[in-house]
Amino acid sequence: MISGSKMQMETVSCGVCHSTQSKPYASGQDFEYSTSEVEFQMVECVDCENVYLNPRPSSAELGVIYPPNYYSYNYDDVISPVARFAKDKLDRAKVKSWLKLAGKDALQFLDVGCGNGRYLEMLSQLGVAKEKLYGVEMSTECIDHLKSQGFNGLCGRIEDVEPDLPVGQFDLIVLLQVIEHVEDPAKMVAVLSRLLKSGGILVIETPNTRSLDVSLFRRRYWGGYHFPRHWNLFNQDNLSNMVQANGLTVKSIKYLPAHTFWIYSLHHFAKDKLKSKLLANWLNPFQNVPLLCIFTGFDLVRAKLGSRTSNMQVVAQRP
Ligand SMILES: [Zn+2]
Repeated sequence: MISGSKMQMETVSCGVCHSTQSKPYASGQDFEYSTSEVEFQMVECVDCENVYLNPRPSSAELGVIYPPNYYSYNYDDVISPVARFAKDKLDRAKVKSWLKLAGKDALQFLDVGCGNGRYLEMLSQLGVAKEKLYGVEMSTECIDHLKSQGFNGLCGRIEDVEPDLPVGQFDLIVLLQVIEHVEDPAKMVAVLSRLLKSGGILVIETPNTRSLDVSLFRRRYWGGYHFPRHWNLFNQDNLSNMVQANGLTVKSIKYLPAHTFWIYSLHHFAKDKLKSKLLANWLNPFQNVPLLCIFTGFDLVRAKLGSRTSNMQVVAQRP
């Protein structure tokens, strides 16, 4: 763990509209990985209501704030077998729903932040040709693995690898729980818009700041802050505006279960406020299957009744 004074930080403007006018929104620490003792600040843009980390760690600190035990590098090891089985089922249903959206024939697909390529693998199993499946990821290890499996893997930020991708050719691009981590989300959407063919679909899944759990835990403990790794947090309006400003049409907005954020909110409260290590350890969103079921069910019912959850899916199309 590094102390507050040692982390290199930079002051930034709003990642959506680039305004520098903001007001305090929340503060907290890295309650999940304890990578530093820094007290981080979330501010809200007064012009577009984007909630963003400011100041935030400089890019030189990425290796610190994403430690080797970060969950997405070790997914299969940290998640309980029952939760993994359920997630697998849900993800397969998700992939099938994408095929319905974009059509299976000659699908040219890109997963930005593809991790170990689980969605590429699922699409391949459903009959999509590997040479049409692309994944972009920061981890060289993941990309080497993808290439060895016959997929198209590109290592780096989407802005940097754009020249190596077929512009205007993609039927479907997915950006799942990624846009909130990047330094310039507007630039990222602009690149993805250029990569889509006419009629092509962009699916974005990201936290939503207008929901019940945010209201309850807003000042410090909401799990969606993921201090200090979530840099921009959207709502349906400013995300839709950003997508439309880049030439895409919003087709639908859906609210998905946010079980991880519920459990992490309680975990952070138990750890920081109640100082209960025992309770905090029990509130583990990768292992606590009963709580996962309860909060998934709770949010599914709420979404069905028309309430917003703190996890949203925006589907956009290039005209
Ligand atoms: Zn803004």
